Amino acid sequence: MPAIVSRPTRAFAASAAQSPLSLTSIERRDPLPGDVEIEILFCGVCHSDLHQVRNEWHNTVYPCVPGHEMVGRVTRTGTGVKKFKKGDIAAVGCLVDSCRGCPSCEEGLENYCEGTGAGPGMVFSYNGPDKHSGGHTFGGYSTSITVTEDFVLRVDPKLDPAGAAPLLCAGITTYSPLREWDVSEGTRVGVVGLGGLGHMAVKIAHALGAHVTLYTTSAGKAEDARRMGASDVVISKDASEMARNAGKQDFMVNTVSAPHDINAMLGQLRRDGTMCMVGAPDKPHPPVDMFGMIFGRRRMAGSLIGGIKETQEMLDFCAKHGIVSEIEIIPIQKINEAYERMLKSDVKYRFVIDMASLKE
Ligand code: NAP
Ligand code: ZN
Ligand code: ZN
Repeated sequence: MPAIVSRPTRAFAASAAQSPLSLTSIERRDPLPGDVEIEILFCGVCHSDLHQVRNEWHNTVYPCVPGHEMVGRVTRTGTGVKKFKKGDIAAVGCLVDSCRGCPSCEEGLENYCEGTGAGPGMVFSYNGPDKHSGGHTFGGYSTSITVTEDFVLRVDPKLDPAGAAPLLCAGITTYSPLREWDVSEGTRVGVVGLGGLGHMAVKIAHALGAHVTLYTTSAGKAEDARRMGASDVVISKDASEMARNAGKQDFMVNTVSAPHDINAMLGQLRRDGTMCMVGAPDKPHPPVDMFGMIFGRRRMAGSLIGGIKETQEMLDFCAKHGIVSEIEIIPIQKINEAYERMLKSDVKYRFVIDMASLKE
């Protein structure tokens, strides 16, 4: 094993669940033979960052440097790197390593790594075990990152790099279930919630040819949803609108970040329809009424981000269809304010941090 040399790197971190994020210094390793070093240009702000920073999933290790929607420029490569060279635009999402030997990894589903191979098991970009430092991984709210080339993605230079950053989590997390459930021309797809994930789901489902219905609690988002490709918008708090649309959807993607009435949503599915849950609230949803599932043989499923191969496929699909996220660019110094706005569903439709602000 070559010796590991690391250098101090600027980052924003939380030191505890109750602390705001603030400037800190972390160590990043110099590229090992298989590594790519990336200067992070833009990093999206996912609701998972907020859940994790505030320890809402009860597994956060501090200091916590969040961020898993990174687009940047390659600055250095290890001697064994073949796919990237200095100056390339490159991206990193939610995963930086996996065991590489379990059945899921062998199928390219590192996102479901079972950890039975020789490698370290699934390693998230932050809050994961870092086999190099012996500590834990740090995410994209930093000026640079070093990642094994197998987990680095290519972004078509014709996509706006800031708008492409959210594809690395919001994009793949919605693309993967839409593909898994064979959404295509004419499929009736319901998307629940128009936040970071939801607006990507609307755009991608529309590009796949689906008839998209957005379910939202925010009447003010209806026009935007239509512009993004939704044919119908249903205000989910309005019982009569929900009743009018009952039984219509073939497939639904539920992106809501808070506990809510799942039964009302399940009722929107046709017989044999599936609702895939991707939202990961810190508290359980109210009880699911089994009769709503039994009558209609409806199904509820879950899905976690996507594997590396599928993430590349999604990035290429978005380049082909000209799909990027709708973003509000912020300097890193505004991150704590951005979290508060995200909690009020006040974001159109993803905050993206301009990492140049971290050098100031
Ligand atoms: P976000 O931008 O905050 O969007 C969430 C949306 O949910 C809001 O914009 C709002 O949409 C709706 N919403 C919020 N509170 C609600 C409530 N109490 N009742 C009904 N609707 C509500 O969050 P995000 O970044 O898209 O992430 C969404 C969730 O997915 C988070 O829990 C996140 O941790 C999780 N996630 C999961 C994965 C995975 O792999 N499964 C990956 C990434 C993120 P409207 O205003 O339209 O109602
Ligand atoms: Zn995310
Ligand atoms: Zn594995």
